[in-house]
Amino acid sequence: MPRLGDIEGALHFMDFLDFVFGATCPGCRRGGRQVCQDCRKKISLTHSQNPIEYAGGVMVAHAYQTEIRQIILAFKYRNQRAGLNFLADAIVERIAVETRRGLSRIDCVTWAPTTVRRKNERGHDHAELVAKRVARKMRLKCVDTLTRVSSRPQTGLSREERLIGPKFVAHESCARHLLLIDDVVTTGATLNSASQALYAAGAGLVSCVAIASTVLWQSSTGSCAPEKARR
Ligand SMILES: [Zn+2]
Repeated sequence: MPRLGDIEGALHFMDFLDFVFGATCPGCRRGGRQVCQDCRKKISLTHSQNPIEYAGGVMVAHAYQTEIRQIILAFKYRNQRAGLNFLADAIVERIAVETRRGLSRIDCVTWAPTTVRRKNERGHDHAELVAKRVARKMRLKCVDTLTRVSSRPQTGLSREERLIGPKFVAHESCARHLLLIDDVVTTGATLNSASQALYAAGAGLVSCVAIASTVLWQSSTGSCAPEKARR
């Protein structure tokens, strides 16, 4: 079994390879090693025009707009790690805002795991990578707390099916304040189901955060539903 430090080390090495061999910006696929200044400006402009902070009970950093969507899809489906830091920063900044508003001290970070099939297909669990990066930036422990019991991924399901959400069991009891991370929130069913499992295992408080919410995006234009935008 590789140690956690080895895996993290390997990730940094891949970031390093992207750096040396010139990965493109994951937001626009133009030249650049990281999320480019143009994409950052567009994301920040959309955020200032259409600030979205919560979707249901979930704190969100961004609307699921063009560049954010591309960065998340590149990370999830093409394993393009150049956006990981940017996505983790978005969550860290979002939590900093809530902390200033009185959110109590977070003890550890965890994530809503994808299905075993998806993890095997992609070679990684993207939510786990984001959670680990966020934890490192916030100098917190990242704890593997949840197992996904149902095997069907949420992507491709109807809204009604999505509302039921996947089932999770918590195998780690954390009677503390947990930050539960997922990448995109659509109905909130995944994070809701995962947080219920953590409460059932004795968690004191679970705060849910996602990088982006599809809700405003879907209501503003029907043509860009994430199901249709995959790959
Ligand atoms: Zn770009």
